[in-house]
Amino acid sequence: MNQPVSARALQSSAESPARLDDLIETVACPNCGGRSCRTIKPASYPKDLTRSELLRTYSASSDHVLFDAMVQCDSCQLVYLNPRIRKDLIIESYASAVDPTFIAQNDERIATFKKSLQQLARRHGITPQTAKRVLDVGCAGGAFPKAAHDLGFDVVGVEPSRWLAEQGRSLYGLDIRPGLLEEQDFPDRSFDLISLWDVIEHLPDAHAVVSDIHRLLKPGGYLIVNCPDHGSLARKLLGSKWPMLLSVHLIYFTRETITDFLKRENFEVVEFRPFWQTLQLGYVLKRASAYFGLFGLAQKLTEAVGLHRIPLTYNIGQSFVLARRTG
Ligand SMILES: [Zn+2]
Repeated sequence: MNQPVSARALQSSAESPARLDDLIETVACPNCGGRSCRTIKPASYPKDLTRSELLRTYSASSDHVLFDAMVQCDSCQLVYLNPRIRKDLIIESYASAVDPTFIAQNDERIATFKKSLQQLARRHGITPQTAKRVLDVGCAGGAFPKAAHDLGFDVVGVEPSRWLAEQGRSLYGLDIRPGLLEEQDFPDRSFDLISLWDVIEHLPDAHAVVSDIHRLLKPGGYLIVNCPDHGSLARKLLGSKWPMLLSVHLIYFTRETITDFLKRENFEVVEFRPFWQTLQLGYVLKRASAYFGLFGLAQKLTEAVGLHRIPLTYNIGQSFVLARRTG
């Protein structure tokens, strides 16, 4: 999975190039539903794109840079991809995703999530005593459910990738359900805290999911949203080289647009801050090498001297949002 497809492999494949119009669709603004927008970056699809090649670029930790057109809504200022890959293809792609590279970083992710939960306790009094029932939507390999479980929360995960859901279940013995949130049968008002870690920007219908979350939260319950921040310093400094610009990231929120988006679903933002992630140095350098070749050399050097596994804490323009259910 996620391996680049060579020209030879494409030629020898029985699959002929797809018609681009059959793979992508024009969408309204994912926040306000407006149809009027201006192009920020035009599309740059590769020639002779096949359906399966396009699907491969939509796996969760894809290194593919952005080739879709990026637009900004004239009405609410949200930045999003338009046109973008068809919704049914996105869902099909996530359901069949297999991602061992992502799983290999689980220990670092668990440690990062524990720090985040400890901050929630300190700053907002959110603890297993005040917010026992937790739901993690799009939990990947179960790192956040594992962190929450270890700290005493009663946690359930939902993950569209059948492979990732099984990984989380077998690694940690936790309640992780394969599929989409809309396919589950959780009772209304049954959770104290629901999280969307690196998920909302991937959702073809983000309002529908956040609306479901509102229904599933108890009154006054909390929602965590962690996502790329188009208003961040990293995005402004790195421009078109910002590593969060990916074909899988359909929406690019800022502090203003996520606040507006959540308000439309009856949530008020109570905290907004940069998110610091810890991963292994070798993994971060490998991901960075897709943008800056020099990092590929640095990755090989750190592996040669055995430093590739040391933890690196960094912020690359992701923001952490804590919101509270109102109404
Ligand atoms: Zn809009």
